[in-house]
Amino acid sequence: MKESFVFPGLTTRVVFGRGTLSQAGAELDRMGHDRALVLSTPQQEADARRLADSLGARAAAVFAGAAMHTPVEVTDSALAAYRDSGATAVISLGGGSTTGLGKAIAVRTGADQLVIPTSYAGSEMTDILGETANGEKTTRRSPDIRPETVIYDVDLTLTLPVGLTVTSAMNAIAHAMEAFYAPDRNPVIELMCRDAMARFATALPRLIADPQDAQARGLALYAAWCCSTALGHVSMALHHKLAHVLGGSFNTPHAETHSILLPYTTAFNEDAVPEALAPIADAFGGGSAGGGLWDFARRVSAPESLKDLGLTEADLDRAAALAVKNRYPNPRPFDQAGIRHLLQAAWEGRRPG
Ligand code: NAD
Repeated sequence: MKESFVFPGLTTRVVFGRGTLSQAGAELDRMGHDRALVLSTPQQEADARRLADSLGARAAAVFAGAAMHTPVEVTDSALAAYRDSGATAVISLGGGSTTGLGKAIAVRTGADQLVIPTSYAGSEMTDILGETANGEKTTRRSPDIRPETVIYDVDLTLTLPVGLTVTSAMNAIAHAMEAFYAPDRNPVIELMCRDAMARFATALPRLIADPQDAQARGLALYAAWCCSTALGHVSMALHHKLAHVLGGSFNTPHAETHSILLPYTTAFNEDAVPEALAPIADAFGGGSAGGGLWDFARRVSAPESLKDLGLTEADLDRAAALAVKNRYPNPRPFDQAGIRHLLQAAWEGRRPG
């Protein structure tokens, strides 16, 4: 445990359970709003419309155009819908892409946000917004971005496809991995991350066997909340930087990219801070945190290599150069050659360490 720390408090109200979607209206009332714009992706529009129907007059309209990486053109259309509808709040029903759109509206208008996450990506508890304009993704942090209320309904995750179940869980584990060595971590976040590792280690193999296993879904969603809280309260380092470079400059899919990189970034930093990452080795076995996560990823059929995402070795050269362009704190010092080496192993999919 760290000898000194700051605990900033947890600011977002969380309602967790099965069937909790039915509390959306009451939560909106509690927030002091009587008209909200319901957001979703096109794929989850039917769920958004069902929610809007259940809310009656409190649902001002539905905007079902949320897209990956929060493109500003989509935000502009959603803003027009928000203003036309007379809403004063947004309800984001979906994965990280939908939550991102709600945050983009909130930061521009002051709208309050009720988020109902349906994947494990973990945007809902954070003050972080990533947006894409002219093909470039930028990220910012601000208290105005953090959602006011989050409803976790385990039942909504029963439809999460198995592939996204695995990759978005690995995305969540990546938040905890970097929280374990974050310079601004605190004992509350450490405890939540430790618990999350054990829950994911139990839940994911069960979900591979039976995606409808509601008890395992509950464990995984609880773990995702813990990991999202970590992401929202402490700083991230090399792993998130590399995922951002690959997603932003090579358009690789978000969750898969995190999932493939995770064993390699973990092993890289484990060299410098093995004690900090011991909870991961404890939860996943394999004798080391990086090796244990690699074994676990294979066991739950996670995507195996950057090669499979269509990246070339020339792309790795450029990615390594981009990753060292700006300096940021990381437990293990690194240079371009070190990053290139890490990326090569992830490209080939070999077991780290
Ligand atoms: P996503 O939100 O793009 O969802 C992928 C697809 O799965 C979408 O079509 C979605 O509608 C569908 N889906 C989601 N949940 C479902 C369910 N339960 N049943 C059926 N379909 C479902 O993907 P994601 O991995 O959840 O989020 C990735 C995005 O989130 C990225 O843009 C990433 O940058 C962002 N993100 C942001 C933060 C942050 O703090 N700002 C944190 C994590 C992720």
